[in-house]
Amino acid sequence: MKFQDTPSLKERLELMSKLSKTFLSRSAKIDEEGAFPFQNISELKMSGYTSLTLPKRYGGEEISLYDLIRFQEYIARGDGATALSIGWHMGIIQDLGEKNSWDESIFQMLCEDVKNGALINNCASEPQTGSPTRGGKPTTTAVKHEGYWLINGRKTFTTLSPVLDYFNVTAFIPESDLVAYFLIPRSTQGVEIEETWDSIAMKGTGSHDLVLNNVRIKDEFLVEYVEPGKKGASGWLLHIPACYLGIAQAAASYAIEFAKSYSPNSIKGTISDFPNVQQKIGEIELELMRARHFLYSVAKQWDYSTKDERAQMNPELGAVKLSVTNSAITVVDIAMRIVGARSLSEKNPLQRYYRDVRAGLHNPPMDDMTILLLAKNAINSYKD
Ligand SMILES: Cc1cc2nc3c(=O)[nH]c(=O)nc-3n(C[C@H](O)[C@H](O)[C@H](O)COP(=O)(O)OP(=O)(O)OC[C@H]3O[C@@H](n4cnc5c(N)ncnc54)[C@H](O)[C@@H]3O)c2cc1C
Repeated sequence: MKFQDTPSLKERLELMSKLSKTFLSRSAKIDEEGAFPFQNISELKMSGYTSLTLPKRYGGEEISLYDLIRFQEYIARGDGATALSIGWHMGIIQDLGEKNSWDESIFQMLCEDVKNGALINNCASEPQTGSPTRGGKPTTTAVKHEGYWLINGRKTFTTLSPVLDYFNVTAFIPESDLVAYFLIPRSTQGVEIEETWDSIAMKGTGSHDLVLNNVRIKDEFLVEYVEPGKKGASGWLLHIPACYLGIAQAAASYAIEFAKSYSPNSIKGTISDFPNVQQKIGEIELELMRARHFLYSVAKQWDYSTKDERAQMNPELGAVKLSVTNSAITVVDIAMRIVGARSLSEKNPLQRYYRDVRAGLHNPPMDDMTILLLAKNAINSYKD
């Protein structure tokens, strides 16, 4: 069965739940080997998932943000790295379809390719800029040469790099002093992946360096101008907290199962009968409940808002990301306290969740920027 075979969210979630269970069975090996989850991505493609956010005008399903992040959370329960990786692709396509900011013929070409399984990601981070959300100008350059763009530079954190068909790359144009996104097909000469990804978290994301050596692309592949650090409200970025919530849910499920079955010989029954353990399980449930309500209510708000209302949602979107990601870290921490020293064994999934969940702190928007935004917003609104 494919996602496109049913419009029912319930049935689609059941299908994703099955895929996610298979991903969970592969997760430890992918992490141990620092491998890329080729099979997971291929199964997501075959299930039709990777084209679900395509706009209806190009024959897509145009699923809502709410549905998208429900699916993303399910994927992350099985494998966080797979969820974060495919989440960029899914969200970018959704965002482009909503914003309509690209030349229609280029976007249509991309959509046709996505229908056939093509994948895209934004490549904005560089060693010199740090997080692009802070406004650093790319050192990657684009220079006009004989009617083409010549692009040179290096991008870090290129998630999904082993299987990307399109790199959507930011570059500085010295001639005009502007920064723009350039759509670069993988097959273009001068495109190279350097396998630099050695992170201890989200090992399976394949977030290697993208090296661009005199990459020559057509004029029209300059797809969009951007102002560094001035990104508009981006609902699709909620795939990030959804990913970390999924990892936290997986940790909680593991710890509760453990508590219900662990029976040291100092007690009758299992440790789940004891108030010290129940206290921790209750705290986990509270964190998860709070995170889930916040995440999904803001996603629904996005779905039901007009374009103008969405443009005002940056504070909520940032607050959700900060709150859910930090709750996820807390949940994994408490889960490990329930399981005890066994949680530190290499064979135990909790040590993987512990590493993976911390990556959320370094995905956009960063916590300090969100807190500042909330402060400025509050100060401005109390002025009236
Ligand atoms: C798993 C994972 C996947 C990723 N995938 C992608 C991807 O697909 N595409 C992509 O483009 N990027 C991706 N990223 C990169 C991510 O978006 C950030 O660019 C990257 O994590 C660097 O962020 P940073 O906060 O560590 O770096 P920095 O911005 O260098 O920050 C490091 C420290 O310096 C401080 N700092 C730096 N500049 C300032 C400033 N101007 N003002 C105040 N403090 C400052 C920060 O507070 C922080 O403490 C990914 C990252 C991770 C972890």
